[in-house]
Amino acid sequence: MASASILVVEDEPSIQELVAFSCSSNGYRVRRADSAGAAEAAIRGELPDLVILDWMLPDRAGIELLRDLRVDDRTRSVPVIMLTAKGAESDRVAGLDAGADDYVVKPFSPRELVSRVRAVFRRRAPQKSGEVIEYGALRIDPARHELDIGGRPVKMGLAEFKLLRFLAGYPERVFSRAQLLDGVWGDHVFIEERTVDVHVLRLRKALKQAQAQDLVQTVRGLGYRLSKRSEH
Ligand code: CA
Repeated sequence: MASASILVVEDEPSIQELVAFSCSSNGYRVRRADSAGAAEAAIRGELPDLVILDWMLPDRAGIELLRDLRVDDRTRSVPVIMLTAKGAESDRVAGLDAGADDYVVKPFSPRELVSRVRAVFRRRAPQKSGEVIEYGALRIDPARHELDIGGRPVKMGLAEFKLLRFLAGYPERVFSRAQLLDGVWGDHVFIEERTVDVHVLRLRKALKQAQAQDLVQTVRGLGYRLSKRSEH
C-alpha cells in the first residue's frame, strides 16, 4: 500500500535526519533535499504529498520557494509545513501569509512535528492521513489496506482500494476522471481517462459483496462521487 510521501527540505544534516526518521518511522515515505534547488528538482521529478520546508536554506530562503510553489498550478495545493528557528510573531505571520499550512519552531519535539503533519493531512488531504476513514457503514483502514462494510470485510484490488479511499476522503464531492487520475494515481502518470471507468466498475463489483455498490455514483457529464444518498 503506497503511503503518503513527504519531502524534507533541510540543510542541517542532524535536523534533516531527525525529521526524516520521525516521518518514516510513522509510515510516511520520505525524500530529502538539502537546498531549495534540490527541492525544486525533487518536486519536478515527483510531486510530494506534503513538504516540510526549512526557512533558512543555503541557496534561497524557504519562504521564497514556498511562494513559487503557491503560484504554480501543479504545486499550488501541496501542503507545506515551515520549519524554522525564527519564532518571532512577524515571521510566523509572513510564513502563513505566504501560504504555509503550519509552522514549527526549532527546537521541536519529533512527536509534535508528526502530530502537526497528521493534522495538516487531516485538514488538507484526509485520505492521506493514514487514519481510519469512516463513512456510513464503510470503514477504511489505509494502513492495513482493509475495508469493511457494516463489520464485514470486503476484498478488492489495490487500485480500487485507493480509488475508494480517495473518494471517501471527500464524500458527496464530484470528481472528474482527470481529477481522479491526479488524486489517486498521482501526477506525471499517463493513463487514459477511460481507465478510471474500468476501476470504478471493478470497485462497484467489489462493493456488491456487501450490497454497497450504489455508494459509488455516476454524475452524468461530470464524473463520480461517493454518496449515501440514493441516486436521482
Ligand atoms: Ca537551515
